[in-house]
Amino acid sequence: MMIAGSQRWMWVPHRRAIGGQVQTDSPDTQTGVCANGTVNCKVRVYRTGNMYLRANLNPATISEQAFAKVVVKPLTLIARPTPEAVGSTLDQVKVYLRTAPAERAFASISISVSAQPTALRRSGLMAITSGTASCDASNAECLVSGSAPALLTVTAVTVTGVTLTTSVEVGQLPCPTGDPLLDNQAIRSGMDSLWKTGGTFGVDSARRERTGLLIDSAGSLVMRYLPLNAGSSPCTTRAATHELNDFRPPRFLPGTMKVVATFHTHPFEKDSITPNNCNALSGLKVGTGPSPGDWHTSVYQALDLNRFYGSEYGVNLLSPDYRHVVIEQNRIWLMKEPATWNRTKDVNGRTIYVPGKGATVGAVQAWDRTTPTTSQFCVARNTAIKPTFNP
Ligand SMILES: [Zn+2]
Repeated sequence: MMIAGSQRWMWVPHRRAIGGQVQTDSPDTQTGVCANGTVNCKVRVYRTGNMYLRANLNPATISEQAFAKVVVKPLTLIARPTPEAVGSTLDQVKVYLRTAPAERAFASISISVSAQPTALRRSGLMAITSGTASCDASNAECLVSGSAPALLTVTAVTVTGVTLTTSVEVGQLPCPTGDPLLDNQAIRSGMDSLWKTGGTFGVDSARRERTGLLIDSAGSLVMRYLPLNAGSSPCTTRAATHELNDFRPPRFLPGTMKVVATFHTHPFEKDSITPNNCNALSGLKVGTGPSPGDWHTSVYQALDLNRFYGSEYGVNLLSPDYRHVVIEQNRIWLMKEPATWNRTKDVNGRTIYVPGKGATVGAVQAWDRTTPTTSQFCVARNTAIKPTFNP
């Protein structure tokens, strides 16, 4: 194909992806011009197609043409129920939907709810309807009701007319809480492991705060334990969303992966005295709950990072229900964005952001670890305990 005129590009998308999926996402054929002297020229594409290029070399009388085929994988539908397991009713289960590799808007979504195959095998029943779903396509989410365990068959149509299907299961969990993050056995075990890797039963000075990430990777929840870092001491750590924990490809796939939650541990019980290798925090009485620095690094900066990657990759890095979790010996604290922020100074005189006056209450929840205290632990909401830092 000849492209008339000076240096420019033309993008011609195919109608179908590998496997025959009809790709109808706009835009169709597009053309553009690269600035003079520009070697790299970027254009975002959503479909498999050919890129034709024409460049005028110096002297301008010599022109070169080339083309490259770009293959875009077929779209897949990702449905994530939260919680993934409940006691026996599905009333609180929300299903979040998105597409991979890139995010598309939906025109319609439907979910059919049936008894989970394993439950059917156990009871010897044939397929029976065990629930219903009401979906909101513009927000890409559905609320399902009925009884668990259940198999959800999800069908969604994108605004450009591509029909996608997938299925997910909602299981049954002992001592469910109704909280999407806590109602997952793998996450409960992960929190227990993370806390134990900090040497929490050993010598005070040898203990370390540990960090981890819970990632929704194309619909599967993956716990990532981060290695000890330069900021790690018995009393501090670099946050899981610190800029040095690189959220760029190939380690992290924006659009396919989302950070559902980040974690850090507090390896000392309330009222113990911090060891002398804690720098400015040495010799202090330990409190309970998130510290001022925790609010700044794990919530304020995490949301900031999300905005940064949102503009760089055009997709969110964090899940819409992102939370930071502080893991203590007998308690778990769930943190989310407070209604207001306030600027203050930390012990080292650096400016940090903490919840505004009275805003801590609505932004943090305490959950006590109850028996058993193994990786199978249960939790119970504790509304009486207040975090030590509570402006
Ligand atoms: Zn902390």
